[in-house]
Parts: sequence; structure tokens; C-alpha cells
Amino acid sequence: MAPQTGGEKKFKPLTKKQQQFFLKLLLDERKRVLKELGQWDETLSNTQQGADGDLSSYSFHMADQGTDAMEREKAFLFASKEGRYLWHVNQALRRLYKSPDTFGQCQHCDGEIAFERLEALPHARYCKDCKQREEDAKK
Ligand SMILES: [Zn+2]
Repeated sequence: MAPQTGGEKKFKPLTKKQQQFFLKLLLDERKRVLKELGQWDETLSNTQQGADGDLSSYSFHMADQGTDAMEREKAFLFASKEGRYLWHVNQALRRLYKSPDTFGQCQHCDGEIAFERLEALPHARYCKDCKQREEDAKK
């Protein structure tokens, strides 16, 4: 990896304990927002398993699962502020499940996202410096 400048700190993978901590934090957030949205069931992560048992539509959806399913989920969720937040929480959960060793790493500078920042915003993808730069660029 190329040397980086501007990161808060060099990234070290979180410990198993810390990963568990954020997993619980994210799942709690997810539950809370789902409740707010009135979506108690798991329809968002299991959109294809319709109760009608329609196999043709099932296999159709199986074929384009992945990014497409994610796009639909995104379109649905982005319709509201809570939904947008939920989407970010879901993404963070995906990252945590898929690559726990890079969770907490800034996706811009590869530096470490401060623990306190992650604690307040477990779905954060950027360290404070990079986030600040992004916000400044929007002005
Ligand atoms: Zn950064």
C-alpha cells in the first residue's frame, strides 16, 4: 500500500471484541429505524422470498440479484430520510460481515476512523478529515 497523508492514524483492524460491539450497535440501529419505518420483518434483506411462492418470479429475481436488488432497495429506502439512514446502516453491516478486517478504515485515505467517531456514527465510511474535505468541496 502506498504511504498516505492526511489520515488521522494508520489503520489497524478492529479487535473481535470491537467488531462485535459495532455489530450490535448497527443491528440495534437497524432495528430502531425499521421500527420507525414500520418494517419489522426481514423483507429488505429477503425481498425475493415472496409469501405467494411464485417460483417463476423467484428465479427471475435470483438471476439479477446482487447490484440490481441493491439498487431497488436503495430506491425504496432513499424515499425518506430514515430510509437513507437505514441504507447506510445496512451497507455498514454488509461491510462488517464481508470484510470485518477493514471495518473502521477510511475508504478515502485508508487511515483509521477514530473509535469515538465510529461509536457516534457506526456507518461512517470516512475519517473526520476526509469527511470534512468532502463537505468543504460541496460548498
Ligand atoms: Zn480519511
